[in-house]
Amino acid sequence: MTPRARIVELDKRYLWHPYTAMGSYLAEVDPLVIARAAGVRLYDIDGRSYLDGNASWWTAVLGHAHPRLLQALSAQAAALAHTSLAGVTHEPAARLAEELASVAPAGLGRVFFSDDGSTAVEVAIKLSLQYWAQNGRPERRRFVALDGAFHGETLGATALGGVEVFRRPFAGVLLECVHVPPLADGHERAFETLSKLLGEGADEIAAVVLEPVVQGAAGMRIYDPELVRHARELTRRHDVFLVLDEVFSGYGRTGRMWAAEHAGVEPDLMCTAKGFSGGMLPMAATLATERIFEGFLGEPDRAFHYGHTFCGNPLGAAVAREVLAVYRDELIVENTASKARVIADAFAAMRELPGVVATRSLGMIGALELAGPSGYHERAGWRVYAEALRRGAYLRPLGNVVYVTPALNIASSDLDELLGIVRESVAAALRA
Ligand code: PMP
Repeated sequence: MTPRARIVELDKRYLWHPYTAMGSYLAEVDPLVIARAAGVRLYDIDGRSYLDGNASWWTAVLGHAHPRLLQALSAQAAALAHTSLAGVTHEPAARLAEELASVAPAGLGRVFFSDDGSTAVEVAIKLSLQYWAQNGRPERRRFVALDGAFHGETLGATALGGVEVFRRPFAGVLLECVHVPPLADGHERAFETLSKLLGEGADEIAAVVLEPVVQGAAGMRIYDPELVRHARELTRRHDVFLVLDEVFSGYGRTGRMWAAEHAGVEPDLMCTAKGFSGGMLPMAATLATERIFEGFLGEPDRAFHYGHTFCGNPLGAAVAREVLAVYRDELIVENTASKARVIADAFAAMRELPGVVATRSLGMIGALELAGPSGYHERAGWRVYAEALRRGAYLRPLGNVVYVTPALNIASSDLDELLGIVRESVAAALRA
């Protein structure tokens, strides 16, 4: 038995994969067995390389095995790999908090660390609820989010989510969240619903939570920043919190450091993870205003009783600091502008392919929608996935949406190659 065959055998005997219909996986899938990664390429166990079309679930914004991140990681590992952050501190966490706050939208001066996007959102949910509970508005227990929203895996984050198939099994036990109708139905309707909800129900609403400007997991749905501005204006008027979930959209993915910048909006709470971590270790943060922070001062019972074992982990913090340093030194966000135009042009041109019903792009995101049903487990996207693997690219689809979200520092030649493979793979899959 080859080493590859043995790994697949053990995988199929013991592993349970995330977001995977395991029945068809066991019966039909011969998985990619990844052995290593460097830059924008993944290498399988037999040495074949694949362009990483989605920066490994949107995290490896500087590519894999970046020498500066590796160096930061090993230096930190030799000094201090882990300690709790409960009442003690360390240099990587303290310095990272300052550096993150200094690049964040104005007003977000307090940083609470956690592990991943879901926990960053969970922190924002709990901070909102507890703030109102102990600052005179205990009836504020509901949330407002967008239809099609995705905010993570924990029960709190699931409640905010607006993808029906992900919510369905938990019906009846989720926090109360009202979803604003799909933006595809027109901005007017979304604006009106939001205005009405806040106008009539602000007394019971803890926060409005948005993925600003792009809904990632919903299928790279891009929407007008005007809606984010409108939400900010309404939440200010009614003194409700605005939470921006920048877990996917932050760190330059949309062409600005934060997607909030497209709208010129400063939220009350902001979540960051994925790009923030550099794709090396689980690492996330929720940023809050001084007003929210002060709402937890006073009697000890008013403290935020929350903290994961690894929150503020020195290794993750050291790497996250180095990510920010590379962003500064190499003007990572600024240098995406010309590549964003290449992505936009390539996807716009794919609109003419038979079977492609829509294309869209923003910053370092390009997406196209295939004809047919749009469910999460629909097969059309997976046919493109198989064609792309054959041609040397890894392109995990979102239902019938095929997209790229490569490392921000991808070389132009690699980007051209990736876009060429997308085009050929879509054409081949639709011919088949
Ligand atoms: N928020 C958004 C906008 C996301 O896209 C995701 C993950 N795709 C999450 C939260 C959850 O992040 P994680 O998977 O790191 O828990």
